[in-house]
Amino acid sequence: MKIGFAGLGLIGGSIAMAIRKKYPEAYIAAYNRSSKPLVKAFRDGVIDYATSEIDDGFADSDYIFLCAPVRTNVTFLSKLKPYLSGHTILTDVGSTKQNIHEAVERYAPKAHFIGGHPMAGRERSSYFNASAELISGCYYYLTPSKNVTEEEEDRLKSFISELGCHPITVDPKKHDLIVGAISHIPHMAAYMLVKLVMDEDTPEEYMRVTAAGGFKDTTRIASSDPSMWSEICLANKDNLTKLMDRYIHDLKDIRSLIERSDEKALYDMFGEIRDYRNSMFTQTEDSTV
Ligand code: NAD
Repeated sequence: MKIGFAGLGLIGGSIAMAIRKKYPEAYIAAYNRSSKPLVKAFRDGVIDYATSEIDDGFADSDYIFLCAPVRTNVTFLSKLKPYLSGHTILTDVGSTKQNIHEAVERYAPKAHFIGGHPMAGRERSSYFNASAELISGCYYYLTPSKNVTEEEEDRLKSFISELGCHPITVDPKKHDLIVGAISHIPHMAAYMLVKLVMDEDTPEEYMRVTAAGGFKDTTRIASSDPSMWSEICLANKDNLTKLMDRYIHDLKDIRSLIERSDEKALYDMFGEIRDYRNSMFTQTEDSTV
């Protein structure tokens, strides 16, 4: 089995490590802008071939994973096109799917492309924070393009399952709405919570210094890479702005209940939300996208 990675950071590195663990004989080629992850991955035996340019090391791959930030993945398509063969499944791990599907149609329309998005991750980027366990047990969205046969979709599904993930197939539009609500909006909320403290802190900085578990849990993802998140926001602009309008509306609702001292309504609302929240994460509290 031959597999290529364009971008070998947190997610690409973690998938490559999981593949190496499950398929010790697989041939893994990787391209990355900076050489440090490539050197480390080669030394650790995670990859067999490292390159600072997309080249024929990617030819005849069974799978090629695009694992850079969402806009950068688009720029790889024309460079990879000459190396895609009939049996190559091209996939990506980007947090948005409509943009990459549109780009594939434009720059590599014949590619057998299946969008992908592992619902796993963390706020610290880079290969140096990657691990095979990061993706273990996660849900993994797949968004097949119209060029893909059922056999190809099944092939990628079973490959992803063998790595310990749970594949879910949806269309790209639905994917972007779902992750808009469960991943992108939480990042906006976390950034703005930290901003609130940054702007409203006392002269002694008591807020910054004494903030404890609740604040830390709620805002962990505000430590995520700013450039990655600016790209995600713009790539999912329509969903994000609609969901933000809804979220702002709900914040205004709760503000008005507090202003009116409507304790009963607050109690009922908190109770209903708590019950729903308690029905989530029934298997684990570790999902960290
Ligand atoms: P990362 O920064 O750890 O890795 C990105 C890698 O791409 C880095 O090694 C970087 O050097 C390389 N890169 C960037 N620009 C490049 C270029 N022009 N040419 C070659 N290499 C380049 O980021 P990550 O967290 O692994 O995210 C990668 C993708 O995974 C993103 O599309 C993101 O939306 C998606 N994703 C991230 C998470 C998460 O929690 N971090 C979760 C799921 C999906």
